[in-house]
Amino acid sequence: MAAEQQPQRKKIEATGQMLKIMSDYFYDLNDAADSTTRKVAWCTSVGPAELLRAMGFAVHFPENHAAMLGATRMATDLIPEANTIGYSPDICSYLTADIGAYLKEVSPLAKAYPGIEAPPRPDVLVYNTNQCRDVQDWFSWYAKEFQVPCVGITSPKNFTDVSDILVDDVTRQIEALIPTLEEISGQKLDLLRLRETVSLSRECTELWRQVLETAAAAPAPLSFFDGTIHMGPAVVLRGTRQAVDYYRQLLGELKQRIADGVGAVDGEKHRIYWEGMPVWGRLRQHSELFAGLQASVLVSTYCSSWIFPDFDANQPIRSMAKAYLSLFIVRSDEYKEKYIKGMLEKFQIDGIIYHDAKTCPCNSNSRYGMPQRLEQQTGIPSLVISGDLNDLRCVSDEQTRTNVEAFIEQLEERK
Ligand code: SF4
Repeated sequence: MAAEQQPQRKKIEATGQMLKIMSDYFYDLNDAADSTTRKVAWCTSVGPAELLRAMGFAVHFPENHAAMLGATRMATDLIPEANTIGYSPDICSYLTADIGAYLKEVSPLAKAYPGIEAPPRPDVLVYNTNQCRDVQDWFSWYAKEFQVPCVGITSPKNFTDVSDILVDDVTRQIEALIPTLEEISGQKLDLLRLRETVSLSRECTELWRQVLETAAAAPAPLSFFDGTIHMGPAVVLRGTRQAVDYYRQLLGELKQRIADGVGAVDGEKHRIYWEGMPVWGRLRQHSELFAGLQASVLVSTYCSSWIFPDFDANQPIRSMAKAYLSLFIVRSDEYKEKYIKGMLEKFQIDGIIYHDAKTCPCNSNSRYGMPQRLEQQTGIPSLVISGDLNDLRCVSDEQTRTNVEAFIEQLEERK
């Protein structure tokens, strides 16, 4: 049996600054909802946030709110509320938890940020189905509820190469959103402002990439579990100066950790890749479980999904289309396998954990033979753990622990 140790949690000093900018962001959203001049847009995580920001909208990301419901372990009790109005327990538990929270009139924002009771009321909802169809259903429900427009991009899926034809299609779809958004915001799109926003998104994404790539060092200074927390600004503040400044600070701290030989996990012996969504309500437990086995879960598809190298201020709309199409989740298994193989090599990975999330088939890549194919090609073993991003009724802590311990033991035997 792999020897389990008492893990030491290492604080990232930049966390204080991250909490501050996230707090400023939520208070600003709240102010925008109260204002008579500012408009609020709800946007999917890889929707056209750059366009919305450049048009002066305050931008709320329901997936971020849903992840907060998961991390605060409020989600599981709220999901049945959405089930009662017809949304199945088998569909996205971000959707069901978020709608459940709305129906119950509760929000983790109320506890974290005194004075804020709930997410801001939208003036428009803007989706991109690049990740899944659930976002469109989710946003359409709110659009009916609030009697506001819901517009979006219907993305192609399962392709290997991002061809010009696909980019043309999504570019046209983004352009088609502009008149509606101009009417709602009461402002004409300022191309200069859009270029600046895209440029800031590009800077943010580049720094976030460098932050994640510090984990290629041995020992890795950053874990996947740290990454899920520190990706907050990359998700909700893409296209702003605050996010760029924050990742500069975080990167400096992680480089210092590398220089000092400080790892996120003491005595790092095994280097693990995480494929799939986090289990938000079990971040701490999973972090401690792996750290206790001297296994560093140091890189993931999930955190790396907010790296968009295609943003280009010279071609703002077309480059947005290309960036949103290049997302891992939209691609074919052929592309995904090649991508993961590159990551295994770059980060010197010993083993892969696939999280099979019950309610998110799009982010669960263990269902069509990928673990077996990759193991055959790379010789790197893997373990599939069953669970869910938000619905803790789908999570068996005992089974996860037993399976992870056995897997790490298997890795130990191979060394
Ligand atoms: S990708 Fe998964 S978690 Fe995200 S919105 Fe779609 S179903 Fe929900």
